Amino acid sequence: MGMKEVIERLIKEGYIKSDRVIKALLKVPREEFVPEHLKKYAYVDTPLEIGYGQTISAIHMVGLMCELLDLKPGMKVLEVGTGSGYHAAVVAEIVGKDGLVVSIERIPELAERAKKTLKKLGYDNVIVVVGDGTLGYPELAPYDRIYVTAAGPKIPKPLIEQLKNGGKLVMPIGKYFQELIVAEKIGDEIKIKKYGPVSFVPLIGKEGFQ
Ligand code: SAM
Repeated sequence: MGMKEVIERLIKEGYIKSDRVIKALLKVPREEFVPEHLKKYAYVDTPLEIGYGQTISAIHMVGLMCELLDLKPGMKVLEVGTGSGYHAAVVAEIVGKDGLVVSIERIPELAERAKKTLKKLGYDNVIVVVGDGTLGYPELAPYDRIYVTAAGPKIPKPLIEQLKNGGKLVMPIGKYFQELIVAEKIGDEIKIKKYGPVSFVPLIGKEGFQ
């Protein structure tokens, strides 16, 4: 099975629909982001281990989160949880050369590996930073979109602060029972919509789990 077949199924099942997301998923070679011994599973729609107890997200989750983020070319996006760098590459395809992806990872070894992969594939519109992403990255704020690829107890306050007015944030919330949420910032208000149960690794940090 290749990415084309996976995408056909994801469209049928309602995870993805926009041309932008479909094109980006077709373009990014997922096999470059998975360890050597798992490359044969690169186009199986499941999370895969990438070391240090972490995973590369399943393809449907990357696609769904990109759809919910409602990404457009030229946007500045903050990702919390770089992992392999795959999701950042898909977002980088959508925001294009005029856009920027800032991605934070707490495990230095993973950040280093992701940096190398992204550089090799020519994604110079992605910046990978080592740190606690629950604090965001104020140096390049505000962001049009923010997404978190690990589940936290609540939306970290610094992320809300670093989101532009009218901006959207997508993240899983919860410990054992987790739900994917979309938060929209409208002035001083945060409008939250829920998108059903999910399963992510924990968000560990000052504004996450300890
Ligand atoms: N987006 C990734 C990809 O495409 O491979 C999947 C990421 S994995 C599901 C979640 C990542 O979040 C892990 O690499 C983990 O180390 C990282 N993480 C957890 N808490 C974090 C924090 N506070 N700041 C930054 N990264 C964090």
